[in-house]
Order: sequence, then C-alpha cells, then structure tokens
Amino acid sequence: APAYITNQTNKAFGRDDRLDWDLLKSEIFSLTDEPTEVPLVINGEEVFSGREKAPIINPGNLKQTLGQYAKATPEDVDKAIQTSLEAKKEWANTSFADRASIFLKTAELITTKYRYKMLAATMLGQGKNVFQAEIDCIGELSDFLRLNTKWAAELYASQPEKAAQGVWNRVEYRPLEGFVYAVTPFNFVAIAGNLAGTPALMGNTVVWKPSDSSILSNYLVYKIFEEAGLPKGVINFIPGDPVLISEKVFSSSAFNALHFTGSTQVFRSLWGEIAKNVSEGVYKDFPRIVGETGGKNFHLIHRSADLENAVYNTLRGAFEFQGQKCSATSRCYVAQSIWPEFKKLLVEETEKIVPANTTSSEGLHSFLGPVIHERSFDKLAKGIDSIKSDPELQLLTGGKYNKSQGYFVQPTIVQTKNPSHKFMKQEFFGPLLTCYVYPDQQYEEVLALIDSTSQYGLTGSVFATDRSAIRLAEEKLRYAAGNFYINDKCTGAVVGQQCFGGSRASGTNDKAGSSHFVSRWVTPRAIKENF
Ligand code: GLU
Repeated sequence: APAYITNQTNKAFGRDDRLDWDLLKSEIFSLTDEPTEVPLVINGEEVFSGREKAPIINPGNLKQTLGQYAKATPEDVDKAIQTSLEAKKEWANTSFADRASIFLKTAELITTKYRYKMLAATMLGQGKNVFQAEIDCIGELSDFLRLNTKWAAELYASQPEKAAQGVWNRVEYRPLEGFVYAVTPFNFVAIAGNLAGTPALMGNTVVWKPSDSSILSNYLVYKIFEEAGLPKGVINFIPGDPVLISEKVFSSSAFNALHFTGSTQVFRSLWGEIAKNVSEGVYKDFPRIVGETGGKNFHLIHRSADLENAVYNTLRGAFEFQGQKCSATSRCYVAQSIWPEFKKLLVEETEKIVPANTTSSEGLHSFLGPVIHERSFDKLAKGIDSIKSDPELQLLTGGKYNKSQGYFVQPTIVQTKNPSHKFMKQEFFGPLLTCYVYPDQQYEEVLALIDSTSQYGLTGSVFATDRSAIRLAEEKLRYAAGNFYINDKCTGAVVGQQCFGGSRASGTNDKAGSSHFVSRWVTPRAIKENF
C-alpha cells in the first residue's frame, strides 16, 4: 500500500489489529442481504405503511438497494410536534441523573454491542471507509454523549458564589419551553446524534429530521437511544421532504430552537423563515438558532514548512472521506521555493489513491470511497469539466469521474494563478483541491489575501517551522478560521480537545465538543430568596 495511505490508516485509527474484520463483513452482509424498512418514529410508534417511500442506496454500489424509508406527511409532522410537547411534561422533570444514564448507556451500546452494526450501516449508507466510520460513528459519537453528560453535570453544579447575608441565590438551568428542531447532515453520524441527542440530554424534546442520505445509520442511532431507555416522544424521528417538514415546524408557536448542520444556503433560508415568523410574533420565545454550515478551508504552506508533514496532512485534509467534511482542505497556498517539491510529492501520493466501494471485500481497506449521491457527483463532475476550458486553471492530477457502478470521483488537484478564482472561494464538498503559489517574500500579502477571500470562517492551517511566520498567521487570520491548526491538517477536531465551529458564512460558532455547548440547550432562571 502507498506510504501515506498506510500511515493514514495506522495513524488515524491506531488499532487496525483490534478490528474484527469477519464480524464487520458479517454485519455488512446482513444489512445487504435483508432490505431494511426505516419507519418514522413518533411517540415511540413506528409508522411505515401508507407513507411515500424512498430507496436507501449504497453510493459505492448503485445496484445495491439497502432498503427504503418512509417520508413524513404534514400530519406526521404535526403529530411529532404534539407528541414532543406532551412528552416534555415528564421529561423536563426527569432528574438529570436519570436522563444522563440513558445517554451514557447509549454510548456504551454504541461502542460495544452495536459497534460493528454501526460501522456497517455507516459504510454502506454513506460510503465511508472503516477507519473514517470508526472515528465518526463510534469514537466521536460516544465522545459527544459522554462528554456532554460530564459538561452538563458541571453546568448544573455551577451556582452563584456570592450572596448577602440572609439571601439564597441559585440558578435553575431550565430546558427550553418549547421543542427543538434538529436538522442533521449526512456526513457525520456523530453530528446527527449530537444535534438530536444533546438538547434531549438537557431536558428538551426534539423533532429530528435526519438527512435522507444517512437514514440507515441515523435510524440505528435512534433505535439505540430507545434501547438505552429514552422515553417515547422525547426524540421523534421523521425523515422526509425538508421543505415540507421545516415549513410545518416553523409554523408552530412552540418552536423554540433550530439545531442545524448543513449548507450555508439552506441555513440562510431557514433563518429567513424563522425571522419572518419572529417579526410576525408567531413564537412564544425568540428561537435559539445554532448552526454549522460550510467551509472553504485553507492550508498555508510557508517556505520553512516540514515538507513531508505538509504533504501528508494536505492529502488527508483534502481527500479523507472524499473531501466531504465541512472542514476539508479545499484551497492550498504554497511558497514558490518549495512548490516544485511539494507538488511532486502531493501529486505522486494522490495518484496512488484508487477510489473503491469500501463495503466490497476488495475495497474494505480503501482510502477513498464514493461521494454521497448523484447531486453531489454531478456538481463535482461539472466543476471538473470546467477545468479544461478555463485558462485560469491547470489540472495537476485527477479529473476523472465515473458513476457506472458508484459515485466515484478521482481525487483532483488544480492550480490557479488567480487567487480570487471561484475555485478558491466556492465549496465543492468533494475531493477537489485548488492550489495557489505565492512568492516567498510575499507572505504578509498572502495572509491578507486569504483573509479577504474567506467568506467562510471554518478551518485553516499554517505549516511552518519559523515561529514568527506562525505568529503572524495566527494574528492576521484571526477570523478566517474558527479552528486554526499549526502543522496539522484542518480536519479532525476531537471532542473535548479542539472544540469545533466557525463564524462568517460557516455558522454561529457555538463550538460543538466544548463545555459551553450544553448551555445552548437550557434557558436559565435566576432565583433569589430572602430568608
Ligand atoms: N468536526 C469535523 C472535523 O473537524 C468536521 C465536521 C463537519 O464536516 O461538519 O473535521
């Protein structure tokens, strides 16, 4: 196997030998052998018949239909809202210890009993390789569940320290009064579980609309919550048409919060809908809006950079999980003096990557799988086609795509001399990296350039050994990235280690994976008592 790719698996996963490959294969087999019917779950009741259905397809093997899922009707959405308000009465008064135990139990089930089933569902439904799946649906999801529980306990315990004599001050961290609407993305099962789960952990009830491209794994997460003891109606799982569901949800006066991860464009439009209703006084409360959206994340390679490290991390940042991370590296600025060597090594290593169906026995160890769906494939294909006819772009490697068996796009690298080219600004959400070479002595200018072309502000990295170059980048790129890395790739934030999120067009920067995050799902009451 190619050196970098072997490193990727070993370094990122670190326990290749502890994976039971036979068990994994048998879970993959059982999910492909028997089609799964994914229902809506409202008030703990599974609803399947009488609803419009859509197929669940393996993006790496289009002939493989994994099952179908039911789509919510407007009445279903109403019922999910009513149910969540009903369930709220008891849930909001359930002790934190009892709530916490359910989420800790979920984490336990995910990492033990359901580990291989979760991996298989995530690999089959979302085209992840096993290492990316493990990091996501086992590691990160269980980290969210466990650490949010710890942070919630700390939040509840944090009480005013000062009081005048004869006064008792306290703060009650109440759940929000209405219900929470979670709209979750396909690319991370961990994000989906966190978006639906954390508000519930904090005593809220949730209407959860999962992405229609991650139904299999997300339904499994729901079922595990249920097995861990989540009471009926606390989370209502309703896949379906996003416009229909959102419209219904936003028309309810009890809508109290949107918890969103997805595209900037969709987030803007949801925000607009909510704002319109706020201005008309539709809601009892001002809704909380917590959203993480897109990115056009940069790697900046200074002339003093450790070259191998910069190449290795750029390859991983740009192409792991087919570049379908909000945090993925998609523009790269390289100092002229090291460009020839950097380019040679990066292209050489990239060319060793062979896209494959990660759920086939030959593809199980593949670095790169398919992109998620036809829409994404077509968008990438169109972008790649435009390279040939664009005098400002030069193809360095890749440029091929093929959807005869699965949605496969070869990792593609282009170079541009125009730093404001749309390839340096637009998010493609796929394995497409654009490089810009700058004169070594214009480092300060390139920092200003990066900042001024960062409509997004999610992640970015600087690679340098020169300390003053690092300092300067830190200072000048203060708002260009909510997650700023030094000598590391700009992906792969770890819950509890690097809290995640960005501002500008990348979202509300509420930092998932931090201790602050749980506080977004409560509305505190200060109580003063004289005695
Ligand atoms: N948290 C992930 C990372 O740091 C990215 C999440 C996303 O793609 O939304 O790479």
